[in-house]
Amino acid sequence: MTCSDEGDDVVHTRGDLVRPLAAVVAVTAILVASVPPAAGQWLHGLGLAVTLGAAVWGLRQLPSTRRASWRLVIAGTILLAVDEFTAHVTGLSDGATAVQSALVLLPALTMTGTALLAIGIASMVRSGRWGDQAVLLDAVVVGTSVLALTTVLVSGSTWHVAADWMTARLQFGVHPLLQLVLLFTVVRLVNRGRRGPATNLLATGVLVVLGATIATAFALVTDRDPSPGLLAAAALLGHGAIVLALLVDDADGRTVVDTAPRVEPSRAALLLAAMLLLPLTLLLTATNQRDVVVALMTTTVLLVLSVRLWLLLHELRRASDARVASQARRDERRFAALVRHMSDVLLVVDDQGIVTFASPSAARMLRTDPAGWHVRDIVEHLHPSERKATIGAVVDHINRPSPAAPLRIKTRLLDASDAQQYLDITVADLRDDNDVAGVVLTMQETTERTDLIRQVRELARRDSLTGLANRDVFNERLEHALARASREGRRLAVLTCDLDDFKDVNDTLGHAAGDVVLQTLSSRIQAVLRSSDTLARFGGDEFAVLCEDIESTHDAGLFARAVLGTTDEAVVIDGHRMRLGMSIGVVVDSGDRNAVEILRDADIALYEAKGQGKRRWVLHRIAMTLRNRARLQLADDLAHALADGALDVAYQPIVDLQHGDRIVGVEALVRWDHPEQGQLSPDAFVAIAERSGMVTAIGTFLLDEGLQTLRRCLDRDPELVLRLAVNVSVRELREPLLINHVVTTLDRYAIDPDFLVLEVTESSMFDDTDLSLSVMRQLREQGVRFAVDDFGTGYSSLAYLKQLPVDIVKVDQSFIADLDEPVSVDLVRAIVEIGRTLRLDVCAEGVETAAQHDALVELGCAFGQGFHHSRPMSADELLGVLAAEPERFVQRERSS
Ligand code: C2E
Ligand code: CA
Ligand code: CA
Repeated sequence: MTCSDEGDDVVHTRGDLVRPLAAVVAVTAILVASVPPAAGQWLHGLGLAVTLGAAVWGLRQLPSTRRASWRLVIAGTILLAVDEFTAHVTGLSDGATAVQSALVLLPALTMTGTALLAIGIASMVRSGRWGDQAVLLDAVVVGTSVLALTTVLVSGSTWHVAADWMTARLQFGVHPLLQLVLLFTVVRLVNRGRRGPATNLLATGVLVVLGATIATAFALVTDRDPSPGLLAAAALLGHGAIVLALLVDDADGRTVVDTAPRVEPSRAALLLAAMLLLPLTLLLTATNQRDVVVALMTTTVLLVLSVRLWLLLHELRRASDARVASQARRDERRFAALVRHMSDVLLVVDDQGIVTFASPSAARMLRTDPAGWHVRDIVEHLHPSERKATIGAVVDHINRPSPAAPLRIKTRLLDASDAQQYLDITVADLRDDNDVAGVVLTMQETTERTDLIRQVRELARRDSLTGLANRDVFNERLEHALARASREGRRLAVLTCDLDDFKDVNDTLGHAAGDVVLQTLSSRIQAVLRSSDTLARFGGDEFAVLCEDIESTHDAGLFARAVLGTTDEAVVIDGHRMRLGMSIGVVVDSGDRNAVEILRDADIALYEAKGQGKRRWVLHRIAMTLRNRARLQLADDLAHALADGALDVAYQPIVDLQHGDRIVGVEALVRWDHPEQGQLSPDAFVAIAERSGMVTAIGTFLLDEGLQTLRRCLDRDPELVLRLAVNVSVRELREPLLINHVVTTLDRYAIDPDFLVLEVTESSMFDDTDLSLSVMRQLREQGVRFAVDDFGTGYSSLAYLKQLPVDIVKVDQSFIADLDEPVSVDLVRAIVEIGRTLRLDVCAEGVETAAQHDALVELGCAFGQGFHHSRPMSADELLGVLAAEPERFVQRERSS
């Protein structure tokens, strides 16, 4: 037994002293018993001193929780030892004095010592409600009887030497009573505590000391020679045992079982014997017949009464046993039912790893009853990759010398259908628990929970609207496919798809309708793909397809065409038939590029497809990447041009067709003289500027330049009615700062807001309906006018016109160019009609010929703009015209 609860800083533990002390005590005891009495008494004293010294030292090493009990025990031992030693010494010199002092001086020491020992031992055992009272009562019964007997026995012989009668009563009455109480506490300690070396040593030691004391007393009262050496040796051994118990104590004897009140047969016999002592005493001292008769009858009554009581007790015990047993059976049944219906598997495994108990669920999970198996056999039912690690951990845990905290393992099971099941195993060492006495393995199947976690993780990798893979998943698969393609010499195709004008759907029918369109199309695309292909949604109206294992570019084309074909059929939402287009960029690769490059090139091809007029697929070619590079270069050049002030503005007059083609305004058009490529059309760079955001800076520049030029014109002729039209892009319209910027620029040149027209293409008005429209409305409240540019090319809806915050409609030049065709004539006429009804000014763009001009005049179109009237010109040229031909311009008094 080891003292596991000692502090580490204690170099010498109590345990270190056990062997030396045992040796010293044994040797001294033998010597005391065998050497001549004169030498023996000093050896006796020496042995006691060493033993008690060890006891005092050992006390200090004890944990504080047990120190109190042991202090009492050791104090008692010391008092008894002093008594014995004194008796030994004085007994040798003079027998009479010995008896004398034994009766006068020693009883105080002996009885106090006995009492202290009894209290100390009693305090070591925490007892139940009944224990102490029962022991006490029994002790009183026996003690009283013994007292009665000794009173009678002793009266004749040594009685006369007693100093006084009371001292004798104490000596021969109370002392045996105390010794009996001590005896009971020892019996109780042994019975009720968990027995261990400390308990056994303590009990033995106390019994030996008691025995020696009683023997001494008995020798004294019966006037026999007490053979002091032998008794002293015995007492020394007893004290040694008590101190050794202190040294090895590690709380055994503490565990108390609170038993139901019951009388052991042995104790019942003892009590009966004690009761019979009284009539027996009477019988022994009887001087007449009456006393004999009374004694015999008392004996008979007591015997009969005892039998009666014993029967009653027996009955009671049977009833109590039955109750306890039925409770135990009920508990057991309940526990068994719980185990039977438990879905978790419970295995109890012994030291050798053999399964000694298996819950019925084990047979369900493992398909056979594992009772009698070795834990290693369970391995066969685990997933191959888990076997070694799992069983290693379990066996290690079982082989641990001391119980550790429960072990938890996550592993996988392989069931009969070979589907994986996830398993949590908990290993708890309950070998110290007498009711279990084994290592308990609890196995909980967590397949459902694990699947759920996996599903949640998977969901995070999916697009919530369509359930398709997201960009991350697509990239992973693409990387994987590329590695395989280059390894196995295969080809793959990547398609990036973008719906044409999807914003119109969102803006006119709402986002819910847009969602339905995306869901419908995604399932249509999925339907034309093979199961091995990956379809992903990159967000918005962008999709991507990965087709592994294709033979040729031709195959890729077939896929692209099939995907494109999914938009052939209109999507019907709430009765609205939506005709959608799609543009697709296609890349074919055999593992030469990485995923980023492939997606970049697919986007370039997609851009190309859009540029070529949408509703088509375009296969990526190197040239496109070069073009893309050129575009990037151009954007870079444009940024420099902006910074260097290399951009210029051209002004194209707008004329009043119904009043002699007089100039009522000018449209400001950006011009860029590229250092290498010469004059560039805005068409070549405005789109790039839009993409890079530079378009806002261009707009700022145009507005400032244009208004400045207008100021110059108005300064020359303050009566001039000349409006300035400036093109505004989607991006600028989304910027609420535009409002403030326009107002301050108008202020700077002191221009009436009424003189400014902002031209906005149809599609940009719908781009971000709420924001663009609100910016437009606020500017309009300031007096600024708006024109719909390129009307007829976008998502044209005449009916829709009246809801827009516009004042002017500019009919796209393609219709004017086709004015010799009746369809175009009808269309322009319709636009003019609507304009009249909605009080919108209609302006024809791209008027190139006199015939077109005449037709427009005939149709009642208010304004015109085109090469027929004037080409765009510089600010200076415009001022030149104003100076040279002022009558071509509209003036305030003339217009009124
Ligand atoms: P737009 O707003 O429709 O401008 C009219 C375009 O038609 C101008 O081309 C003009 O030169 C051209 N044009 C005028 N009369 C005729 C004609 O009789 N026949 C033909 N074939 N064309 C004619 P430009 O200057 O090349 O501008 C092209 C487009 O670039 C503009 O179309 C406008 O959308 C955009 N743009 C021009 N300047 C700016 C600007 O400062 N900011 C923004 N955001 N866009 C601009
Ligand atoms: Ca325009
Ligand atoms: Ca236009």
